[in-house]
Amino acid sequence: MTNVARDLVSRQTKSTTTVYNALVEIGHATNAQIQARVQVDYPDISATTIHRITARLKDRGLIGCAPKSLNGSERYDANPSAHHHFMCTVCGDVCDLPNGESTHQAVENLRQLSADCALAGTLTLKGVCRDCNYKEESNHENNNL
Ligand SMILES: [Zn+2]
Ligand SMILES: [Zn+2]
Repeated sequence: MTNVARDLVSRQTKSTTTVYNALVEIGHATNAQIQARVQVDYPDISATTIHRITARLKDRGLIGCAPKSLNGSERYDANPSAHHHFMCTVCGDVCDLPNGESTHQAVENLRQLSADCALAGTLTLKGVCRDCNYKEESNHENNNL
């Protein structure tokens, strides 16, 4: 977190700080996931409060948006700067793609392919994550027994 962000967050109310810290811990989360995490310590916090806080943090640029969850809910990202994601189409989990040369090169290639389009925004690569892939494979193995 930058000093500016730390400063802005530290001036917030306790519930804002709690919500922010929960998102930082999880990395990418919907309001419902943040609520589940926060309710361990604050059972009384309402969905409306979480919703209001995440919307405000987003408006101030302290958090970003990640690809929406499988059920279409807004998902927030503790990292507000633009970056690319991988999303599992089975469990809906997202993770950041490495911000390395290979990702950069892939985006550049796309940009050249579609020279007439103004490309903006970030990439979301979809597929099946390792956990789901593994489950899938062991299901097949069980069926073959
Ligand atoms: Zn998965
Ligand atoms: Zn991310």
